Amino acid sequence: MTAEERRNLRAFQDYVIKILDPTYILSYMSPWFKDDEVQYIWAEKNNKGTMEAASLFLKFLLELQEEGWFRGFLDALAHAGYSGLYEAIESWDFQTIERLEEYRSLLKRLQPEFKTTVNPKDILPEVSKCLISQECEEIMQALKKWIEENSELSFLKPGILTGRGKTNQNTGMTLPAQKCALDAFRTNGDKKILIATSVADEGIDIAECNLVILYEYVGNVIKMIQTRGRGRARGSKCFLLTSNAVVIEKEKINIYKEKMMNDSISMLQTWNEAVFKEKVLQIQIQEKVIRDSQGKVEPVPDKENKKLLCRKCKAFACYTVDIRVVEECHYTVVGDAFRKCFVSKLHPKPKSFGYFEKRAKIFCARPNCSHDWGIHVKYKIFEIPVIKIESFVVEDIATGAQKLYAKWKDFHFEKIPFDAKEMPK
Ligand SMILES: [Zn+2]
Repeated sequence: MTAEERRNLRAFQDYVIKILDPTYILSYMSPWFKDDEVQYIWAEKNNKGTMEAASLFLKFLLELQEEGWFRGFLDALAHAGYSGLYEAIESWDFQTIERLEEYRSLLKRLQPEFKTTVNPKDILPEVSKCLISQECEEIMQALKKWIEENSELSFLKPGILTGRGKTNQNTGMTLPAQKCALDAFRTNGDKKILIATSVADEGIDIAECNLVILYEYVGNVIKMIQTRGRGRARGSKCFLLTSNAVVIEKEKINIYKEKMMNDSISMLQTWNEAVFKEKVLQIQIQEKVIRDSQGKVEPVPDKENKKLLCRKCKAFACYTVDIRVVEECHYTVVGDAFRKCFVSKLHPKPKSFGYFEKRAKIFCARPNCSHDWGIHVKYKIFEIPVIKIESFVVEDIATGAQKLYAKWKDFHFEKIPFDAKEMPK
């Protein structure tokens, strides 16, 4: 299976190299890549360029022998927002990406001359498909450049606003960069247009606009009202450009809902104050009952014993029955067997927090794995490991089914509190 994936990836590598900036996904690939490989890839990008870095990244990737490397790569793409590339690789169908590529090369060809006769509509249809993904970043830049270099449009002095990357600092704009782009648009009368992804919906307050153009985009009704709210200048207009029947239908429903909301508000305003207050009180009481009842429903813990395996090499680490919860949110493993499964390296900067003193980092004991499992701490008088669930795979002993958890609180097993009496003297 892996051989086939490797063969396919090799066959399609030209696409990947053209699209992927590997530095966006490296942090998600840490279980698979060694530190020096990561450094090489960064250096290659800085010294030679993104495509060279992508090609080196693929070389390292294709050399990986550990089981699960391919899934790891796909997960990293998904995390970094490369949804187009993810889908293409998962289905080994690069048609959409190929079309994107045509437009990208069209833009590249046009940029030097920027003939004023070019119709933006020729370029835009493909842009929309990736407006929320990493792939669009480059195209937004191209669109900006195109406006800047087009003599009839250059007076618009476009700015760019994208979302903050999900968890990776390398993707998207940082908060200060977003603020800077918005300030330039708001206070500097020069910047007359802001090219934005759906971030305009995410509660960022954009100055009065007299024109909002939504391209192939429709959210829910709240988003729609918010987006229109962006066009707050007197007489401002909001246009939706689309050729997609589903988008049109959604927008019609939104317009209807908006009308319903406005009608309801007008009606409410005719009520007398006492009736209104009484009604609000009733609703609040009802909602409180619902909230209280929901808050108390703790998921039933799964009492069945399960295995924890190293997420990288799948080596056995411990059983859930041996896990103990320290101070409600730290997880340790009791028993001697576990101590043989990890190795520790002294922490360069030992730190204390609460009753804990962080002393070392612990890693999977398999020499060719060394996956980061967590830390070793001194807790009161005990020297104990503290593991993080995101370093492991949880395996059902009976069925062999495996599950991944990002946080301990999502993993509902029987959580036994740490008890000093259990510890060896
Ligand atoms: Zn391991």
